[in-house]
Amino acid sequence: MDTVKNNLLSVIIPSYNEQDMIATTFHTVKNILKEADIPFEILFVDDGSKDMTYIQIAALSKEYPEAKGISFSRNFGKEAAIFAGLESAQGACCVIMDCDLQHPPATIVEMYRLWEQGYEVVEGVKSSRGKESRFHAFCAGSFYGIISKVIGIDMANASDFKLLDRQAVDALLLMPERTPFFRALSSWIGFKTATVNFEVQERTVGTSKWSFFSLVKYAVKNITSFSGAPMQFVSLMGWVTLIFSLIFGIQSLYKYFSGAALEGFTTVILLQLIIGSVLMISLGIIGHYISRIYDEIKARPRYIINKRCGY
Ligand code: UDP
Ligand code: MG
Repeated sequence: MDTVKNNLLSVIIPSYNEQDMIATTFHTVKNILKEADIPFEILFVDDGSKDMTYIQIAALSKEYPEAKGISFSRNFGKEAAIFAGLESAQGACCVIMDCDLQHPPATIVEMYRLWEQGYEVVEGVKSSRGKESRFHAFCAGSFYGIISKVIGIDMANASDFKLLDRQAVDALLLMPERTPFFRALSSWIGFKTATVNFEVQERTVGTSKWSFFSLVKYAVKNITSFSGAPMQFVSLMGWVTLIFSLIFGIQSLYKYFSGAALEGFTTVILLQLIIGSVLMISLGIIGHYISRIYDEIKARPRYIINKRCGY
């Protein structure tokens, strides 16, 4: 957006109802980067928090020139916050991290060193998924299994914790889509990539913003916004039912001509039910894509910024 500064690292932190974490996160990251002698700015993106998050950010930005903040007019979601951060960042490279310190800030230094060696994208890869329930782990596992298959990139341990060179940032910002899936897009753009492993820390303050249903919504939204593969499922089911209809068709005709046609009421009911469900699911899948197209075609902005501080 503004002038890009040599060597400057922009740390982008999407924050939603994180009033108790802002100051801690800022000081932790600041101290680590100062120690490592890395020039930096820390850019908080307040994603329409309902608590004192923005007031905390604004207070920091008065005291420290490295602290900057932008605030959304309402909650637009983490992806939107990430893109807003990338758009406002002035650094020659950007790191995206969570506000709850689940992404260890010491890893940023490691990422920055790799960037200095010429890597343009440095992906943070979870060496373990931290503490989560078995059910959560199962759902996340299936989601990333599907996503990885569908987009052809192994996403099992992917995270939003990554460093992007200015060139990669600009490439991402060129993408006009309304529902960007940051985690996958940052692999999709290519560039010279390195990975660093990190241990997911436990959240100390506040709670995770994800409920089960929001995760399901997230999964459906991202799969449909990233890939058309589920549509192929519709035609696949069409072929499967066609094959069955041939078999049953021949069988019924045979029975009819051999004079034993009255049987098979159960079969009729079953077929109705199966075909009915397949049709509805298929319509649902197509419907999801239509709603994606609808969202894109409206071309509304990804987010609305109503406040800035530290600029
Ligand atoms: N977040 C956000 N907007 C949202 C939800 C979350 O900006 O609508 C931020 C949140 O403040 C945090 C990060 O995204 O910095 C990850 O959220 P959280 O810790 O709740 O997710 P989890 O670590 O459980 O995946
Ligand atoms: Mg978290």
